[in-house]
Amino acid sequence: MKAFRKETNKDLGPEDKGGFIPFSLPSIGDEEIEAVSEVLRSGWITTGPVAKAFEEEFASYVGAAHAVALNSCTAALHLALETVGLKSAEAVITSPLTFAATAEVVRYFDARPVFIDIEPGSMNMDASLLDEKISSLKKDGITPRAVIAVHYAGLPSDMDTVMEIARRHGVFVIEDAAHALSASYKGRPVGSIGDITCFSFYASKNITTAEGGMATTDNPEWAKRMRIMSLHGIDRDAWMRHRGENTWRYEIVEAGYKYNLTDMAAAMGLVQLRKAGGFLGRRTEIASVYDTELGGIPQISLPVKRPPGDVVHAWHLYVLRLDLEMLVIDRDRFIQELKSRGVGASVHFIPLHIHPYYRDMYGYVPGDFPAAYDAYGRVVSLPIYPAMSDGDVQRAAAAVLDVAEKFKR
Ligand SMILES: *Cc1c(COP(=O)(O)O)cnc(C)c1O
Repeated sequence: MKAFRKETNKDLGPEDKGGFIPFSLPSIGDEEIEAVSEVLRSGWITTGPVAKAFEEEFASYVGAAHAVALNSCTAALHLALETVGLKSAEAVITSPLTFAATAEVVRYFDARPVFIDIEPGSMNMDASLLDEKISSLKKDGITPRAVIAVHYAGLPSDMDTVMEIARRHGVFVIEDAAHALSASYKGRPVGSIGDITCFSFYASKNITTAEGGMATTDNPEWAKRMRIMSLHGIDRDAWMRHRGENTWRYEIVEAGYKYNLTDMAAAMGLVQLRKAGGFLGRRTEIASVYDTELGGIPQISLPVKRPPGDVVHAWHLYVLRLDLEMLVIDRDRFIQELKSRGVGASVHFIPLHIHPYYRDMYGYVPGDFPAAYDAYGRVVSLPIYPAMSDGDVQRAAAAVLDVAEKFKR
């Protein structure tokens, strides 16, 4: 396994090794290792000049005025909600087809995550339901403070609709762009559209620092607030304390958190960011191979695309939807069969409303969000990452075809 990883990561197109194709692998080269080593040798390993440089390059990559480097996307979402003033008993509207982080941060405030069902094609929150949901919350005397648009798999949500409705109602727009680095919507990069956009650099994401995140915004006050809150409510960057005369002096202006990104991680992030365009190219290539190989099979629906020019898909995930009526096996068995053919696959996501915590707290039943629940029974995420060889992609596609044909109804 170790040898396989080393081999695949050295080169973005190694020939097929014939081993198990993991669902996800990071692409780490010698440049990342060298950059991290340089920080380790420098004498300053935590948040400092490299994190600052990463913020600046990142902001420019996504076309935002400000970027705040954090130790996760979860931290970014938390600080974004804090910054737009979320209070207990208020509501934050989002999709149920997302990761735990998107809704748990709302609970940090003792506020309520309010779900809107997905649009079954794009798998994003159905923006046509947003206006009515906001109005009905208001009628019940609940303040909808923000909407969190999740760009599922890397396909941008319908941001024109989301922004228009939110603006009209005085609701803030936060984007969970954990899947959507390098995506764009009508010519605007994700990161430059909503009020605050949150990115993840978790190991499986489009670029990685092992753990890490970024919040982007055009609002200088919000950027400053998130920066202060990310480091104990202290209103100066840690490394600034080591300059000037009174190097020990600092002021606590709030009860903040400990969410800063280390220079070690930022060094890795800077190198990864410079590769992000190449990574996107390879992900897009893999998606189009899957499209070609798996198109026209009635047992499978392919991911929905938008007309080119309309959006750029980040292809964090390539999600098939099984036509269960055409198969004699269910989704779980489909994934087992792929595994037995040497292909790792996954499920994105178990909808939040069927997890015990949300189910029990709000009394949800699966049918409360029928499209999300239906999708859950059908979705299969295939491996898609730059370290896959052409042979890996062909083999993964062939395994899908083999399972779909063998278990055809
Ligand atoms: C990965 C992920 C997150 C959380 O990112 P972290 O950096 O691990 O905190 C949030 N939302 C979605 C949709 C994700 O996939």
